[in-house]
Amino acid sequence: PELFQPIRVNSMGFDLMHTPTLDMIESARAPWKAHSWAATPLIAAEAKPKKAVRLQNPAAVGRSPGTVRNASEADVKNAFDTAEIWKAPLEVRQEVLLKAADMLEAHYGEIFALLAREAGKSLLDCVGELREAVDFLRYYASQATNVPPAGVFTCISPWNFPLAIFCGQVSAALAAGNAVLAKPAEQTPLIAFLAVSILHEAGVPREVLQLLPGGGDVGAALTSDARVNGVAFTGSTATALKIRQSMADHCAPGTPLIAETGGLNAMIVDSTALPEQAVQAIVESAFQSAGQRCSALRCLYVQEDIAKELIEMIEGAIEVMVMGNPWDISTDIGPVIDETARKGIADHIDTARSEGRVIAEMTAPGKGTFIPPTMIRIDSISDLKREIFGPVLHVATFKSTQLNKVIDDINATGYGLTFGLQTRIDDRVQHVSERIEAGNIYVNRNQIGAIVGSQPFGGEGLSGTGPKAGGPNYLPRFGAPDLKSVDESW
Ligand code: GLU
Repeated sequence: PELFQPIRVNSMGFDLMHTPTLDMIESARAPWKAHSWAATPLIAAEAKPKKAVRLQNPAAVGRSPGTVRNASEADVKNAFDTAEIWKAPLEVRQEVLLKAADMLEAHYGEIFALLAREAGKSLLDCVGELREAVDFLRYYASQATNVPPAGVFTCISPWNFPLAIFCGQVSAALAAGNAVLAKPAEQTPLIAFLAVSILHEAGVPREVLQLLPGGGDVGAALTSDARVNGVAFTGSTATALKIRQSMADHCAPGTPLIAETGGLNAMIVDSTALPEQAVQAIVESAFQSAGQRCSALRCLYVQEDIAKELIEMIEGAIEVMVMGNPWDISTDIGPVIDETARKGIADHIDTARSEGRVIAEMTAPGKGTFIPPTMIRIDSISDLKREIFGPVLHVATFKSTQLNKVIDDINATGYGLTFGLQTRIDDRVQHVSERIEAGNIYVNRNQIGAIVGSQPFGGEGLSGTGPKAGGPNYLPRFGAPDLKSVDESW
């Protein structure tokens, strides 16, 4: 660490209120508007290629962003057979990761186009996503130390942050010197293919970082091999539990699983809160990224005394939201990722509508897998039996005497990812934040968009195993188990 102490600064991103910047983005994206990308396995030794599959653009079903050739069983086997840890000295690994970060930033035109067309991301989300990816690369490069790697690390990432979380897992595993086998989400292999191509070009050897696109079968093969020395996974709690079982059956005891999973995140707004501030925080937390963040607000608790006014203000904010093609700068909300996701969320809304509990909704644009922002009344967070991963805000009210009961109900979900509080009473901030069981607690602001390096992100309970991503405890878990901590008392 004495040799390498960069002053780490978060990425500047792009100011979307600045017209010349917007013009610049527009011309950088333009060449990619009708481009067709192709993702394939990026492995050291290729087997017989599988047939290419066409991917969907969720905002315009039928207008494909490209194709993917998924990894076969033989490819996974070859990847394990050829995987090599990264033997380059620490300073070289750091330089390569920093170079890849700069290269990703330089490719912003193609990346924004791909994020919009493959993942349905609005321009605001594209900017946030690229910043986070670049921040992860620079942060883990700056945190890397000369400890031995764990060995082979499997990284399985989700479609909701197809670049940022993909790069976060992979760069942490690489910074620690591991051999990495990365499987992106089935819906978003193109952006992962671009990221791995850039990492290879920056200097990561092909045997060190291999890309294996595919679905659950590839994921299962990558987590059920005795040669796996660690797994980083972000996705559903149910899949994390399956991975844990498969690792218990096949991997050495103590092989780490770093899982970041779902949430049933709540916000409490008391009667002293500033209404305008609360509404802005609620709308951003519930609807930005079409609610497809594991940090997103799912259940709002409003103190009865201000509920009517506050709910009316949220309705007003929903009415002026623009939903549509994520490529358009005016779009606030793009589509949800695919038809399976759309149907699951729509069924939930239909049930609520048939029970007369839908408070506000808009109509969806015709083509594409859209779910309009929707507000649903519930009595308690315990009415929610599962995480609804879309732009649906559930609202409950409480009396001032019921605050502790509300806290207990939130904790009783078993999840513990993000939590928001809007109040102007200092003692209440203290009281609530001491009792709420959540990884990230946000006071008088929104509860999404944790910043790498200053707001380590991750939950407890059903929401994940820790350690928090983008924080100082993350990287050590990608190194060889600390021999000093082995219990020798036996
Ligand atoms: N880190 C993201 C945030 O704070 C959420 C990550 C996720 O959805 O998996 O909004």
